[in-house]
Amino acid sequence: MSAANESRNGGNTPRGMPRERPADGPESSRITHAMEDYLKAIYAMQARGGEATTQRLAEELNISGPSVTNMAKRLHELGLIEHEPYRGMRLTPAGARVALEVVRHHRLLELYLTETLGFGWDEVHAEAERLEHHISDELAARIDRALGYPTHDPHGDPIPSADGMIAAVSPALLSDVGAGERVAVTRVSDRDPDKLRFLGEMGVRPGAEIAVVERFPFDGPLRIRIGGAEHLIGPGVAAMVNVAPPEEPETSE
Ligand SMILES: [Zn+2]
Repeated sequence: MSAANESRNGGNTPRGMPRERPADGPESSRITHAMEDYLKAIYAMQARGGEATTQRLAEELNISGPSVTNMAKRLHELGLIEHEPYRGMRLTPAGARVALEVVRHHRLLELYLTETLGFGWDEVHAEAERLEHHISDELAARIDRALGYPTHDPHGDPIPSADGMIAAVSPALLSDVGAGERVAVTRVSDRDPDKLRFLGEMGVRPGAEIAVVERFPFDGPLRIRIGGAEHLIGPGVAAMVNVAPPEEPETSE
C-alpha cells in the first residue's frame, strides 16, 4: 500500500518495459495501458463536448462502474484528472498530455498502416488500439517524418503534434444535413469496421462531396449523391460522418 512512497527518486526503473513519457515527474512512469485508455476515453468525451461520467466511461471501456470509480481515484492521486461529484471527470493539463500522446500514436499508426503497409481503412483501428501503448515517442516522430508530417489520419481525425496541439473537428454531422444541401466529408468515425467498409464503398471518405437529395421522414434514410451516383444511407450510419461546408462552388457533373 506504500508504493507511492517508494518511487520518489526514480532510481529503480522497472526493466524490460521502458516508458517513453515526457519527463513531467516521477509519477509518469506508473501510468499503465489501462490508465492510458481511460484518459483517452475522457479526452474523447470532452472533445465531443460531453461530460465524462462514471456510467459513460463504464459503457465506453466495457468495465464495471466500481472499476471506473477505482481507476478514477488512482488517476486523481496521480494528478491526471479532476473529479467533481455529479459533474464527471476532467483531464488536468498533465492528464491531457498523456491522452494526446496516445491519440497521436494511434492516429500516426493508422496512417502508417494504410499508407505504407496497404491496410484498408477499416482494418487499422484495432491494430492501432494495441500498438499505441507500445511505440516510443522517437518511433512516432520517425513515422511522422516518413509520412511527411501529416495533419490527419485516414479517417479524417486530426493528429496531435508532439507538443500536444490538435486541430478542431467540425461538429456537424451528415445525419443533420437538410435535403438540397451540399457538404464535404471531414471525418468518419473509425469505431465500426463494417460500417467503414460500407461507407468506403460508396465513396464517403474525407474530402468527398455529398449532396443530400432527399430525407425520408420519421428517422428514415437519407438519399445522397456522391460522385454522380445515388445511395440510401440510414441515419445511424450518417451520424458517423462529420461534414463541413464545401470549399469550392458547385461543379456541374
Ligand atoms: Zn482509430
